[in-house]
Formats: sequence, structure tokens, C-alpha cells
Amino acid sequence: MGRRALMLVLFAVALAGCSAGPVEKNDAVEQARSETVVEEAPAPEPPAEAEAPEEPEEPGADELLARLDLVEDYRAEFDHGPKGAEHQRYIVLHDTEGEGDPENVVSWWASSGNLVAAHFVVGKDGHIVQCVPLDRIAHHAGYGDTGHNGLFGIEEDGRDDMAGSVPIGSSYADYGMNAWSVGIELVHVGGSGDYPPEQLEALDGLIAYIDAYYGFESEITDHKAWRTGNSDTSPEFAGYLANYQDHRTHE
Ligand SMILES: [Zn+2]
Repeated sequence: MGRRALMLVLFAVALAGCSAGPVEKNDAVEQARSETVVEEAPAPEPPAEAEAPEEPEEPGADELLARLDLVEDYRAEFDHGPKGAEHQRYIVLHDTEGEGDPENVVSWWASSGNLVAAHFVVGKDGHIVQCVPLDRIAHHAGYGDTGHNGLFGIEEDGRDDMAGSVPIGSSYADYGMNAWSVGIELVHVGGSGDYPPEQLEALDGLIAYIDAYYGFESEITDHKAWRTGNSDTSPEFAGYLANYQDHRTHE
């Protein structure tokens, strides 16, 4: 190769080098650009699901219990055996027919020795004492009118407080409500006047708690509906009982 030819070759190589450089550079720029583009316009996120308006959460049994002014004073002698949710059907309301506060009522039941008690006693100021757990039988409703077991849909199944359904006396053939219910006593004497709002509000809260505990609404009734001749609940309670039966609060 002569000197001139060599120069031409070198020139050509130089040109080729020059042309190679910018191409690589352009590729890099292009890549950078595309990266930049990716950064500037990220892939759209999947559309957020339309948020449902928040529904107020129903308070659970524990929260409803915590809202009550309730103390537990369980007495083994008042406990007459198991009564699970499958055996829960009624909430039976009573009056104590005395003015003693719930602690006094429970002490009096214990001292009487006849093993009678309701699950709850609600004082005039809204204070509540529970002396039998919800899943146990308490003897609070006693005998019913003849035929009332069937009328109230209460079946014989041999548990405690069903044995009396073998007639004890011709007037008191039925004896099964206790095995299918929760009993609540209100401190009140029939004819003594209205029930204080604190007591009625406590009863509202207690019924809400029992409903939440079982996960269904038990039928609300009173003792005199079970046994004709019983005085409780008193006539002053009639309007409240109708309200409870209609919508589960006293108002
Ligand atoms: Zn009663």
C-alpha cells in the first residue's frame, strides 16, 4: 500500500470511527430518554375499587356488656344445669316486689334456700347484678298455666326444670319455661309509680347485650303472661313491655 493509499484507509477508518461514536451515543440517549419516559409516565395503577360508604359497626356482646354497670355474683346453688343457645327462646321480665337493691335481692334469694333466682337483677339506678351465667338454667318463672308449655313452643327434653311437667298439682301442670329462657328482675313494687329512666335504659342495654350474646332476638315476655295470677310485671310496665316486644327498647 502506498502512502496515499494508507492515508485514505486511515481516513476511512477515522470516518467509520466517527460514525460509530455518535450512533452509540444516540443509542444511549435514546435509552435514557425511554427510561425517562418510563419514569415520567408510570404504568397506570389498576383503578381503585369504589369505596363503599362505611356502615356503622354493630357493637359486639363484649362491648355491650362493658357499657353496662354490671357486676357478676355467681351462686352455684342458683345454677340448675346447661342451657345453650339452642335452648334459648325467651327473655322473661319480672318485678322484685321489693325496694331492695340488686345485691340485697341476691342475698335474700340465697338466704331463702329455695334455689330460686333470675339471671339478672336491675336496680332503680341502672346498677345490675348477674348471679347466674347466661348459658345456665335459673329457676325464675316457675310453674306456668296448664297448656303453656305447648302454647309457648317449649318442648320437654328432660333437662332440669322440665321434670315438673309431670303434674305436681292439677293447677300447675307445666314447668318448662326456665329451661328455655333468661330471667330479668326489675327492682319495683307494683303500684309504687313509674320505673326510673336509668332503670329502663339499663334494661335496654341488657336486652341488647343478651341479643348480641346469642346472635338472635329472644321473644320478650313477662312472668304474668306465663302464669295467670302472677303480679309481675306490674301494670305500670305495660306500655314499656309493648315497646320492648315491638322494637326492643322501652321508648
Ligand atoms: Zn316473677
